Amino acid sequence: MSGRAKPGWLKMRPPSGRRFTEIKQSLRDRDLHTVCEEANCPNLGECWSGREGPGTATFMLMGDRCSRGCNFCDVQTGGMEQLDSDEPANVAEAVSEIGLDYVVLTSVDRDDLADGGSAHFAETIREIKARDSSILVEVLTPDFQGSPDAVRRILDAGPDVFAHNIETVERLQWPVRDRRAGYEQTLDVLQQANEESNVYTKTSLMLGLGEYHHEVYQTLSDLREVGVDIVTLGQYLQPSRTHLDVFEYVHPDVFETWREVAEEELDFLYCASGPMVRSSYKAGELFVDALLREERSIEQARNLVRAGGD
Ligand code: SF4
Repeated sequence: MSGRAKPGWLKMRPPSGRRFTEIKQSLRDRDLHTVCEEANCPNLGECWSGREGPGTATFMLMGDRCSRGCNFCDVQTGGMEQLDSDEPANVAEAVSEIGLDYVVLTSVDRDDLADGGSAHFAETIREIKARDSSILVEVLTPDFQGSPDAVRRILDAGPDVFAHNIETVERLQWPVRDRRAGYEQTLDVLQQANEESNVYTKTSLMLGLGEYHHEVYQTLSDLREVGVDIVTLGQYLQPSRTHLDVFEYVHPDVFETWREVAEEELDFLYCASGPMVRSSYKAGELFVDALLREERSIEQARNLVRAGGD
């Protein structure tokens, strides 16, 4: 389907404005990467400005080269850099300087590191919380090849939301994801986070890769089965001709139907679903909205989270 014109609902707005420039400058000053920029995310302007609530930015830890090669992803494979031991503190500094209320930390996969980079991830969470414990931290982690110790290291650092993406339905895991990733492995990681901590858990699905509706429904059900609270659904877009073709441009009405199914039938805390939605799309605003919808203040939610209440 590559080369076919994108439908009107996939038109992108270039980011602009004072806030955008400020954030960009702060990141460059500290030589930091964001997925927002690396992935050329269509929502960058909206997320960084955070008009109705906490601004959101997604920091990419551990360099911009990955040990894996997923066929939907534009990140470079191989040639990973040495970890920058100043990065955790630099990220925390940038977060305070920019004045973000909600931060997403993600990373490439680092199968080349003994702990998969989990200690570096955990230290970054601690650095941010040490400066301001009211900042909400979402971590979007690799699968650490399913290592429970690595996942536990992250959970012990005290994030507010633990995310790991399932990306697509079971039948399409290969060729969409690298062969080292897997459907059951991802469910296990999310289940561990749900069972071993009271953090909110989250995942993300791309549509338009050739999945059938019953497979999407089955995936959402499997995710609820392991206790996942939050799910996002967005349109797969082909980064280059060397990546997987787009099988279908899914209509916004179909995304809306999946949002209703996820929230009203399967009882996810919230579901962000739309052609332009990405895993961290307005993550801060939507998370806070969902808590308030549940008539819970962040503090109440946290206390509830910590007290293991429901
Ligand atoms: S593991 Fe993540 S960063 Fe690496 S290629 Fe796959 S999706 Fe991209």
